[in-house]
Amino acid sequence: MTILLVESDQEDARLAEKAISQYPPIRSHVVHRARDAREATRYLRQHSAVDVVLSEMRLPDAEGLETLAIFRQVAGSTPVVFVVAADDKLLAQDALGKGAQDYLVKGEYADGRLSKAVGYAVECKRYQDEIQAAQAQARDMQDQVQSLRQECEQLTVMNKAKDDFISLASHQLRTPATGVKQYIGMVLEGFAGDVPEHIRPFIAKAYESNERQLAIVNDLLRVAQLDAGRLELRPQPTALKEMLLNIVSEQSSKFSQRQQKLVFEPGPGQVFAAVDAGRMRMVFDNLIDNASKYTPEHKTVTVGLRQDSGQVEVSIKDEGVGIAPENIDKVFEKFGRVANSRSELVGGTGLGLYWAKRIVDLHHGTIQVRSVLGEGSEFVVRLGLA
Ligand code: ADP
Repeated sequence: MTILLVESDQEDARLAEKAISQYPPIRSHVVHRARDAREATRYLRQHSAVDVVLSEMRLPDAEGLETLAIFRQVAGSTPVVFVVAADDKLLAQDALGKGAQDYLVKGEYADGRLSKAVGYAVECKRYQDEIQAAQAQARDMQDQVQSLRQECEQLTVMNKAKDDFISLASHQLRTPATGVKQYIGMVLEGFAGDVPEHIRPFIAKAYESNERQLAIVNDLLRVAQLDAGRLELRPQPTALKEMLLNIVSEQSSKFSQRQQKLVFEPGPGQVFAAVDAGRMRMVFDNLIDNASKYTPEHKTVTVGLRQDSGQVEVSIKDEGVGIAPENIDKVFEKFGRVANSRSELVGGTGLGLYWAKRIVDLHHGTIQVRSVLGEGSEFVVRLGLA
C-alpha cells in the first residue's frame, strides 16, 4: 500500500509513520512524505499509484476545505484521510460531507486508530471501485440488451417483409399455374379434339411439371400463412382410423407404381382426437409421402395407430435411407432439406416437416423421429385424445 503523508511538522510526521508501522502495523506499506500542498501535488502528478492521502487539514500553503479541493483535482478519487487539531473537528466533518474518507485528531493514535482509518479508507475505496465497475458492467449489459432488442425488431420487420413477399409472389404464381392445369387438363381429356398419341406423353409431362410447381406454390403459401399467424385451427373430435385409411388408400397406387408396400396397422376400435381434420390430414399425408420418397423400391412403409394412456400415437415407419443423428433437428427447420441418396431424385422444398411440426405443436402434440442411417426412420406423432 502506498501512503502519501502530507505533514509540515517533522516530529508529527515521525509519530504518524510510527503509528502506521506499529499500532498495528499495516503490512507491506510505503510512506512518501510531502511537507505542503505544493509538494504533495507534485508527487501525486508524478505517481498515480498512491492508495491513500493522509494529510493535515491546515498546511502552510492550503487551508481547510481548499486542501481537499486540491487533492481531488490532482488525485481524483484517491481516498483522503485528514489529521486535524482537536478544535478543527467541525471543519473535518464538513470535509467528510464533501468527499473526504475519514478524519482523526492529531496525536490520538491509540488503539491503532490511525492504521485502522488508513486501512478502512483503502478498503472502502476498493469496494467503491468494485461497485463502480459492476455498475459500468450493468450499463454495458443494458446497452447490449437495448441494441439486441433493436436488432431483433429490425429482423422481425425484415422477416415480415420476406413473409409478405413470399405470400404475394405465391399468390401471383398460383393463378397462372391453375390456368395451365385447367387448359392442359382439358386438352388431355379431348375437349380440343383428339390428341395424337405421339404428342400425349409430352402434354402429360407438362401437366405433371405444372402439378409439381403448384404443389411448391401451395407449400409456400401455407407456410407464409402459418408464419404470419393467419392460420386458424378448427379442432373437432376426429376419427383417426378413418382419416389414415383414406390417406393410405389414396396413396396406395403411388406406392405400387414405386414398387413399395404400404401397410396399415390400426389397433382395435375407433380412436378420436380433437384435431383440425384438414390440417392434420396434410401432416400425415406428408409423412407418408416422405416415407415413400426416401425409401427405395421393394421396401415396406408401415403406418400404425395406437392408443396409449390418454394419448393417441400415429407412427409412420419406413425402411428407407434414414437420417444421420446430426441432421435429426435440421429436418424440422424451415427449408431444412438434407441431402441423401434420394433427395436429388425426388425433389422437395424442405417445408413439409416444418409445417408438420408447427401444426402438431399448435395441437399441443409432439412429433419425434427415430432413425438409423441406411436402415430407415420412424416418425411418431402423439396427440391428446378427444
Ligand atoms: P422435403 O421432403 O421437401 O425436402 P421435408 O420437410 O418433408 O422436405 O423433409 C426435410 C428433409 O428431411 C428431407 O429433405 C429429407 O432429407 C429428410 N426426410 C424427411 N422424411 C424422411 C424419411 N422418411 N426418411 C429419410 N429422410 C427424410
